[in-house]
Amino acid sequence: MKIYNLAGWALLLVYALACMYFAPPEIGPWLGLAIGAAYAVVCWFIGGVYLSCVIHMGIAHRALDYKDWFIKTITVVNNTFGVYVNPVSWVNRHRLHHKFSDHPGDPNKLAADGFWRTLYLCLMPYKATTNMADDEIFKSWSFRLVSNPVFSVAAQVFNFALLWLLVRDLRFAAVIWLGFRAFALWINMIQNYWTHDRRFGYRRYADEHDNAMNIGEWLPVTATFSACLQNNHHHSPGFLRLSHEEWEYDLGFATVRVMKALGLVRATNKGAMLPKDVPLTAVGL
Ligand SMILES: [Zn+2]
Repeated sequence: MKIYNLAGWALLLVYALACMYFAPPEIGPWLGLAIGAAYAVVCWFIGGVYLSCVIHMGIAHRALDYKDWFIKTITVVNNTFGVYVNPVSWVNRHRLHHKFSDHPGDPNKLAADGFWRTLYLCLMPYKATTNMADDEIFKSWSFRLVSNPVFSVAAQVFNFALLWLLVRDLRFAAVIWLGFRAFALWINMIQNYWTHDRRFGYRRYADEHDNAMNIGEWLPVTATFSACLQNNHHHSPGFLRLSHEEWEYDLGFATVRVMKALGLVRATNKGAMLPKDVPLTAVGL
């Protein structure tokens, strides 16, 4: 088993066992496990749609055009109740990451940065050299609210307190809250480390200017909503999907198709343009 899969499954197993072990007697291990699983699934799903489908492909790359109210709602909901990710600084860092991929100026990781250095950078990235996030939507009250540093602290205190109130046990609440955030850090490391090191994954495109790789196994693709197909994505960053062949498992794109059926999103002209060297016969949206 690949090291990143082993790490991901091990984290999930430890999380499940910790939920069972630390559940207070009035909840018991099985209900404790069910509560931990429900918390993880809800946070993962909302977080994945928010960051991977909406902020990444909708805003940072403008490949998808979402309804304004939907963007703002999911941004406020995720950052109030789920794992906090500042949308404005994330978009800025992400655009710098594409511009300088693995070279000085990339806030996520330089080519020589190892595992522990990149892990530290997930929490304390390199300083952004320029501002590439001047989108109109960032001036709206909902984005100004969630990107405020006071909000980032208050929301995390609030959603921890809410969880504590629900399970009525401080230690159990802390295990769930911190345990899921450890898994979220693994998701971040799939993106920033394992898909940016040529020893892992596969390369469809021999782009020499970066180290972006495709990781296509079930757990990383599911956890990241397909954002780990990095070699495909860095080759055609404006294209609305990250899978470039029909056999590549693509949960993120499947979710976008459901959102399109619900009338929440449509392709932009840029996003719907099928790049010439992509082996797909149709965009599929
Ligand atoms: Zn991107």
